Amino acid sequence: MALIVQKYGGTSVGTTARILTVAQRIARYHREGHRLVVVVSAMSGETNRLLALAREISPNPSPRELDVVAATGEQVTIGLLAIALQERGLNAKSYTGGQVGILTDNAFTKARILGIDEARMRKDLDAGTIVIVAGFQGVDVDGNITTLGRGGSDTSGVALAAALRADECQIYTDVDGVYTTDPRIVPEARRLDTVTFEEMLEMASLGSKILQIRSVEFAGKYKVKLRVLSSFDDPESTSKGTLITYEEDDTMEQAIISGIAFNRDEAKISVMGVEDKPGIAYSIVGPVAAANLEVDMIVQNIGASGHTDFSFTVNRSEYQKTMDVLQNVRGKSFTAREIIGDNKICKVSVVGIGMRSHVGIASKMFKALADEGINIQMISTSEIKISVVIDEKYLELAVRVLHDAFELEKAPG
Ligand code: ADP
Ligand code: ASP
Ligand code: MG
Repeated sequence: MALIVQKYGGTSVGTTARILTVAQRIARYHREGHRLVVVVSAMSGETNRLLALAREISPNPSPRELDVVAATGEQVTIGLLAIALQERGLNAKSYTGGQVGILTDNAFTKARILGIDEARMRKDLDAGTIVIVAGFQGVDVDGNITTLGRGGSDTSGVALAAALRADECQIYTDVDGVYTTDPRIVPEARRLDTVTFEEMLEMASLGSKILQIRSVEFAGKYKVKLRVLSSFDDPESTSKGTLITYEEDDTMEQAIISGIAFNRDEAKISVMGVEDKPGIAYSIVGPVAAANLEVDMIVQNIGASGHTDFSFTVNRSEYQKTMDVLQNVRGKSFTAREIIGDNKICKVSVVGIGMRSHVGIASKMFKALADEGINIQMISTSEIKISVVIDEKYLELAVRVLHDAFELEKAPG
């Protein structure tokens, strides 16, 4: 008998029929004797619909009120799921984030979880009740409703599992695990039985939408046993999905590359012809950071005749804001010949801890892209990943040729 936290994403609860199937799976785990806390997302498309309603009224709605609106999506599904379980004769109770004491900071629309008061959930669990919790939301110290950023229900699930010291956190979604890349782009993508925490962290941070980055960070911090599974399998299925592991298994043949991640939500800005002198990077990035805009990849050219070019990427939704900030400080913080931007780029990355002990990965990657005539605009590397920025129109082609070049459809060994 274990304490299990299950999280079901939007498509998994997208219709009442899907909710009934979810109830069937929960009933099975209950029958097997497990204690269950279940986190659910809003029905698929619902969060987008709610946010669009707010934007129909105002182009710039206040973040606090956006959260009040967006958080209602999850409140519908917790109630519906509790009703579905009660229909099956099970004891189930639904709670909003605030009701189970998910305390966050007050960064509306991207709040961070500060703590969880598990007392109430423990009491229910001890009484044999299945606890259903709304994902994606919490409250700040003043009782304001907050949300955790898009995809945030993953983080709710993992945070609850950490707080309750659950035996396992199961993330149920519309694919049966973590694949070598998004199977919607590459149908030959292969499901991984295990993926190391470090690789999952890179993949999530480089854009794989399968798990929200913060949920992976949380899992690592508290060593939560985390598994990704399909809610579309038979509810009695015993398939194991993908387990996120914390130790490298030396006995297993380790793939050099485990996966390919990509991110379309990026934009590139180049500040051309700035003075090549100490402090120039700070004079550009400083004002951007001060405006709370996050800078991702940075490339500075070798200087020539006292001048250089400085390029970086930001989130596409913050592209215009960043351009505005730079135009405002240009001439004061720094001087530049020209500031140019491109918001039709994307980032494609190959990830794998096997890269540490292998050379030639970069050249293989660059050759595969060159063979297709795909121009690389920026490059960044770490011990376990290589990322390139390319024209957005080549995204799918690049992911496919890289998947092919590294033979990811084949199991290693
Ligand atoms: P949920 O609504 O359950 O949270 P998401 O849409 O957020 O589901 O995440 C699941 C989707 O992530 C899959 O449908 C798939 O298209 C996408 N995805 C991206 N990268 C991967 C990957 N490496 N492995 C599996 N799925 C991936
Ligand atoms: N419903 C929220 C979203 O669409 C949270 C989630 O599904 O994880 O982003
Ligand atoms: Mg998700």
